[in-house]
Amino acid sequence: MKIAVLAGDGIGPEIVAQAVQVLEALRSDGLKFELEPGLLGGCAVDATGEPFPEVTHKLVAAADAVLLGAVGGPQYDTLPRAQRPERGLLDIRKALNLFANLRPAVLYPELANASTLKPEVVAGLDILIVRELTGDIYFGEPRGIEQRDGQRVGFNTMIYSEAEIRRITHMLVDNAAMQLVRNPRQFDVMVTGNMFGDILSDEASMLTGSIGMLPSASLDDKNKGLYEPIHGSAPDIAGKDVANPLATILSVAMMLRYTFNQESAAARIEKAVKKVLAQGYRTGDIYESGMKKVGTAGMGNAVLANL
Ligand code: NAD
Repeated sequence: MKIAVLAGDGIGPEIVAQAVQVLEALRSDGLKFELEPGLLGGCAVDATGEPFPEVTHKLVAAADAVLLGAVGGPQYDTLPRAQRPERGLLDIRKALNLFANLRPAVLYPELANASTLKPEVVAGLDILIVRELTGDIYFGEPRGIEQRDGQRVGFNTMIYSEAEIRRITHMLVDNAAMQLVRNPRQFDVMVTGNMFGDILSDEASMLTGSIGMLPSASLDDKNKGLYEPIHGSAPDIAGKDVANPLATILSVAMMLRYTFNQESAAARIEKAVKKVLAQGYRTGDIYESGMKKVGTAGMGNAVLANL
């Protein structure tokens, strides 16, 4: 199996290095794969002028799975839209036809205090949000801004074909948003359209209080996937060895489960993360007094030691 590794920008290279270390440790156990690095986002713009260059397109098209860190940074915010790092993200999803986005929102009991909700409401939260990723209002036509009665009017179209609805369905979103904060543990799996999923999955991830902990997967119809933490490139803490690598490490577990069908290897990683939290290791974002504060590499090494 072939894994394309796109570390990206900001904290991307630091957190991906820890995830790769975990993968390498599993390789010595007999798991067979090749890792091939590539450029996406701001680093790709710096090197080639484009956020998703042709060479990366070829690399990910030939790979079985993609591990992505994060892209973006303030130095790219003034570039024309087509050159922004985030464009690279949209383009790679489209190029690989990744239509199903899986976002678990899990609150580990040890981190129950990190949530803005009362621990008794959220402790043990374990939701999987399945979001349609390539249709809906983001791509619907007609769209535009036009003059009507002397003022500008903007319009977009929320549109799904029958085939798209067959592969994914949705429920009433206003109620779902309310129920998620009222009693989030009533949900095991939520299946949503693109825009509602965007909103509900952010809401669910905030319930856990720790975006540094949450992985995600985006899959095509053959289980080829792109795996990445839900957070961004965190330029404010890049290069300081303080970013939490667990979301990226847990993304590797999702990759092993969904693309490579290696359930036991996936479970090993998840068990190691639970043990590390139980042992009290914490990066700054999830730190509470009395715990053992570690940096990015320290956290990665703690996971390795518990595999
Ligand atoms: P962000 O997720 O990068 O950061 C939000 C806050 O969370 C920051 O304070 C950051 O320090 C913290 N944080 C994020 N990840 C962390 C981690 N692993 N450990 C500890 N703390 C962590 O969101 P933002 O600040 O809105 O965006 C920064 C850049 O990332 C922007 O350029 C944005 O476009 C980009 N972005 C990229 C992706 C992606 O690559 N998928 C997603 C969201 C944002």
